[in-house]
Amino acid sequence: MNASFPTPAAADTATADALPPLHLLIAAPRGFCAGVDRAIEIVERAIDRYGAPVYVRHEIVHNRFVVDSLKAKGAVFVEELDEVPDGKPVVFSAHGVPKVVPAAATERGLDWLDATCPLVSKVHRQAERKVEAGRHILFVGHKGHPEVIGTMGQVPEGAMTLVETLDDVATLNFPEGTPLAFLTQTTLSVDDTAEIVAGLKARFPTIVGPRAEDICYATSNRQAAVKAIAPRSQLVLVIGAPNSSNSLRLVEVAEREGTPSRLIQRASEIDPAWLDGVETLGLTAGASAPEVLVREVVARIGQWRTVSEEPVTTTEEHMVFKLPRQLVG
Ligand code: SF4
Repeated sequence: MNASFPTPAAADTATADALPPLHLLIAAPRGFCAGVDRAIEIVERAIDRYGAPVYVRHEIVHNRFVVDSLKAKGAVFVEELDEVPDGKPVVFSAHGVPKVVPAAATERGLDWLDATCPLVSKVHRQAERKVEAGRHILFVGHKGHPEVIGTMGQVPEGAMTLVETLDDVATLNFPEGTPLAFLTQTTLSVDDTAEIVAGLKARFPTIVGPRAEDICYATSNRQAAVKAIAPRSQLVLVIGAPNSSNSLRLVEVAEREGTPSRLIQRASEIDPAWLDGVETLGLTAGASAPEVLVREVVARIGQWRTVSEEPVTTTEEHMVFKLPRQLVG
C-alpha cells in the first residue's frame, strides 16, 4: 500500500527553450520499498488511533519531505526516548533500535510501536541466534548508521565487531578456532559487500553466514536498475537524503559504471548547468523518496528541455509487509 503525500508545489511550467531535447531514463524499481511504506503507514495509523501528537524516535525514514508531511499530520520527531513525555505513544523508526530502547519504553509504561523493517528485524534475530550459539559476529556495515546501532544493540557489548571495508578485514585478529559468523546491514553496496564477504571467508574459512547477504531486495533491485540506466546516461540524478544509506549507494553504483551522478533531495537543487551537453539523463530515487519527488524533478527539467521519458524496468516488486497487530482491525 502506498502512503499518500500532497503533490509538491507545481513547478513553473515555462516553455522549454530551444535547447536540444533530453531523453530521460527512469529506473524501475525506484523509490519507496515495502519497509518504508509500512513505517509511514504505522505512523499515520498511530495518529488515527491515538490522536496527535504521536512521537517518533528518529526520522521514521531518511527523507525530509516524508518527515515534514508526517509532522503536518501530528507526528513529533525526537532523537531519544527521554524526549517523549509520559503517557504519549512512540513509534520506533524503520532502521531498528537497540533492545534497550523498547525495554525502557515498556518500563515507563509507554505505548510503543515498532516500525523496524521486518528485513532488519530478521537480521536482529539472526544476530541473537549466532551469539546464543557461541559465535562472535563480524557485522558488515557503516559506523554510526542507525540500523548498525540498532543491530549491534541486539547482542551484549563486545559480541559483535563492525567491519566497514575490505581493508578492515586485514586488521581483524581472533585467536585460532574462534567461532565466527558474519551478518550485513541491509542497505549496502551489493558489489562492495560481496568483496568484503569474500575477504572474510578467505581470512576465516570456517566463518558462517546467511546463504545470501542480508542486503534487502529493495536495495539490490534499485542498484541493478541503476546499472541498467547509467551506461546509457551522461548523468544520473538520485533523489534521496544525504543520510540515506541506500541512496548514497545508488550514486556510487552509477559512478562505478563511469557515469557522473548527483544526489538531490528536491528538484530545486538541480543546477541547470549540470545538464549542459547531456542528451540522456538517468533518474532514480532511493527507497525512502516518494514518487511525487520524481515527478517534481521531471517537471523541473521540463522547464528547460523538451523531455522524452523512457522507463527502464529491471524487475517488478510486489513485496508488502504486515502491520503490527495493535494497528490492525
Ligand atoms: Fe526494509 Fe530494505 Fe526498505 Fe530498508 S530499504 S526499509 S531494509 S525493504
